[in-house]
Amino acid sequence: MPAQTRLFRCLSDNFGVLLHDPATGATAAIDAPEAAAVEQALKETGWKLTDILVTHHHADHTDGIRALKDRYKCRVVAPAAEAAKIPAVDEVVKEGDTVKVGNLAANVIETPGHTAGHISYWFHADKLAFVGDTLFSIGCGRVIEGTPAQMWTSLKKLRDLPDDTQIYCGHEYTLANIKFARTVEPDNKALAARETEAKAQIEKGEPTIPVTIGAEKEENPFLRADRADVAANVGMSGKPAAEVFAEVRARKNKF
Ligand SMILES: [Zn+2]
Repeated sequence: MPAQTRLFRCLSDNFGVLLHDPATGATAAIDAPEAAAVEQALKETGWKLTDILVTHHHADHTDGIRALKDRYKCRVVAPAAEAAKIPAVDEVVKEGDTVKVGNLAANVIETPGHTAGHISYWFHADKLAFVGDTLFSIGCGRVIEGTPAQMWTSLKKLRDLPDDTQIYCGHEYTLANIKFARTVEPDNKALAARETEAKAQIEKGEPTIPVTIGAEKEENPFLRADRADVAANVGMSGKPAAEVFAEVRARKNKF
């Protein structure tokens, strides 16, 4: 049976998401920004929380863990490299490990850069990837603990997922990201079309995710730093992709 998801907004601009396996009843929260919002989503779906899969240690992804763990006795899975900074961890995982939610299976992909130990969860059979604050729709996370080169490598790993993979990220930043992306690629028609689509979604109060890797590859400048036209647009023709990526990221920081 295919996986089911429940996406919801919480805190100021975070996304929370539940992943449900209808065959076994298992339900995972991907990160736990705030316990009340996760509990509300559980109430609305009637699902029972069995697992929390943590992408990274930031408080706006982990603050709800303790209360949810106390209430549901759920298993908390976290990246090995930063488990010490995450509450109530039961199981640590690293690159290549498999995590199961009921019968649903995820590959762990290490995606450092935003934080040093950030991981993403790829449910290959269900064509779903939960990427935390590494990749956003038309954007990427700030490079806080890692280097731009490390972040570029992480983004390329996500870019290599099948085109029809649905991406769930940690924040609703899409419109602001598009505004910046259009300064890097003013002639990108697919990006212009995405802006129209995203504006309509926001006006209707709908989320702008999930998005597919295939669409992001056409529209997200942070996944396109190895293209000659993108390099030229930021005055970096002939430079290595990691340096072009660093320049695009630096421009976004000042935007
Ligand atoms: Zn973060």
